[in-house]
Amino acid sequence: MPRIAIIGSGFSGLSSACYLSKAGHEVHIYEKNAASGGRARQLKTDNGYTFDMGPSWYWMPDVFERFFSDFNISVQDEYKLKLLDPSFDIVFKDGPMHVPSDYAELKDLFESIEQGSSSKLDDFMSDARFKYEVGMRKLVHKPGLSLLEFADIDLIKGVLRLDVFSSFSKHVKNYFQHPKLVALMEFPVLFLGAMPRDTPALYSLMNYAGLTLGTWYPEGGFGGVIKAMQKLAERQGCECYFNSAVSKIVIENKKVKGLIVNNKRVEYDAVIASADYHHVEENLLDKEYRNYDENYWSKKTFAPSCLIFYLGVSKEIKNLVHHTLFFEEDLEQHSIDIYKDPKWPAKPLFYACCTSKSDNTVMPAGHENLFLLMPLAPGLEDTEHLRKKYFNKMIERLEYHTGEDIKGFVDYEKSYCIKDFISDYNSYKGNAYGLANTLLQTANLKPKIINKKVSNLFYTGQLTVPGPGVPPALISGKVASELVLKYFNT
Ligand SMILES: Cc1cc2nc3c(=O)[nH]c(=O)nc-3n(C[C@H](O)[C@H](O)[C@H](O)COP(=O)(O)OP(=O)(O)OC[C@H]3O[C@@H](n4cnc5c(N)ncnc54)[C@H](O)[C@@H]3O)c2cc1C
Repeated sequence: MPRIAIIGSGFSGLSSACYLSKAGHEVHIYEKNAASGGRARQLKTDNGYTFDMGPSWYWMPDVFERFFSDFNISVQDEYKLKLLDPSFDIVFKDGPMHVPSDYAELKDLFESIEQGSSSKLDDFMSDARFKYEVGMRKLVHKPGLSLLEFADIDLIKGVLRLDVFSSFSKHVKNYFQHPKLVALMEFPVLFLGAMPRDTPALYSLMNYAGLTLGTWYPEGGFGGVIKAMQKLAERQGCECYFNSAVSKIVIENKKVKGLIVNNKRVEYDAVIASADYHHVEENLLDKEYRNYDENYWSKKTFAPSCLIFYLGVSKEIKNLVHHTLFFEEDLEQHSIDIYKDPKWPAKPLFYACCTSKSDNTVMPAGHENLFLLMPLAPGLEDTEHLRKKYFNKMIERLEYHTGEDIKGFVDYEKSYCIKDFISDYNSYKGNAYGLANTLLQTANLKPKIINKKVSNLFYTGQLTVPGPGVPPALISGKVASELVLKYFNT
């Protein structure tokens, strides 16, 4: 049986490992960090807190369901899902807006803000649903290697409805004018990728996912999902090696022969690299085998990095729900500070996640588990002084919103920013979410999932197809594993 190595144990690497071990291959995962999960690792503290270090929005539950059903398991066999209601709160200057999970209540909310907008929401969602069906069922499964992949009758018929060439921002404003509704619709693309005006309107599929399919919380956090996937891969025979950074992909006669891990050479018949694409090319491959040079990467638009605080709070916080977006400041200006004129934002937007509102296993009784995240341009200067300055800005607004002292009750505090993304994940410029979802970085225009010069070397993860986010990472791992299986069958 072929021996296959996977570099990295994030969602995409684990996904590939599950599919390849199911097919009977000998699969080994090498992970530089001490545990699996990559950007979705968990942090456990000595005083009883468990933090999801990265993702916190469980959207597109159907993608997770389809993943596990490929192995004849259902999500419920592995972890329980809780539907959050409200899905989330958005705090504006004049107070919070609760975004209900029930669609009829959501329509009432729209109507209360802008007359006539509830029926426009129906129209918007019917279009977004079409994009979700075609996008998430068809487009995302294409390896992006040939235009012929799009010679599918549904795709051809739907190409105009998919709105690949028009701007997301314009699309939203065709339906809604009130700034609160515009902010509600635009936030998912801003946090995961690019200026709404540079994002194709195709991505309104995210609004369908977020506002009609529900915002869920997996029991045990995203760490519970990672645990389930690692268990599945290991049950099928996959071996995971931690604290095992790969330092070289060994190539002879234009074929991968193995890896150098902890100064030892290990032989393999194929490799899938799920670590950040730029790191794999620049640091693990000799120059003649790289798909892209430094010039290519320097011209790409990267998704944001972020400043995160993991906080333990030794009391219950009353006026706070599981997810809260702090949008009292201007969305457009913060996006300019990320994408157009990169700098630490003067008036930032940020996001607070309080998992202890839905899960009493993530903190000591009577405490809260709090995660603050502020999107930031990648590659900026990152100092303790700057981190502290923005901590104070965020905590002040949190205290104002909740009406209570929080700072005085913090009994665990850890910050995480650009330097940590680089040292922990070998991330290019400390990006958090890979490449931005702009038109010129969509589908076939993303970095290729195959190495064009070495036929048994493949890539997966948030920098190649289909893109950033946990559901795309699951699909990316599947697409890469299908190419590996094809390679051995031809
Ligand atoms: C703060 C944050 C919040 C997010 N929020 C959400 C959210 O709410 N919902 C959502 O869907 N998505 C979210 N995302 C995005 C999502 O988490 C990622 O897109 C996804 O987890 C990426 O998975 P991956 O497998 O591509 O990469 P990674 O998770 O980065 O995995 C790559 C792995 O490779 C390892 N590695 C690197 N170099 C080497 C080497 N030389 N040798 C061995 N191993 C190596 C790394 O340590 C890492 O474990 C968030 C991301 C972040 C950072």
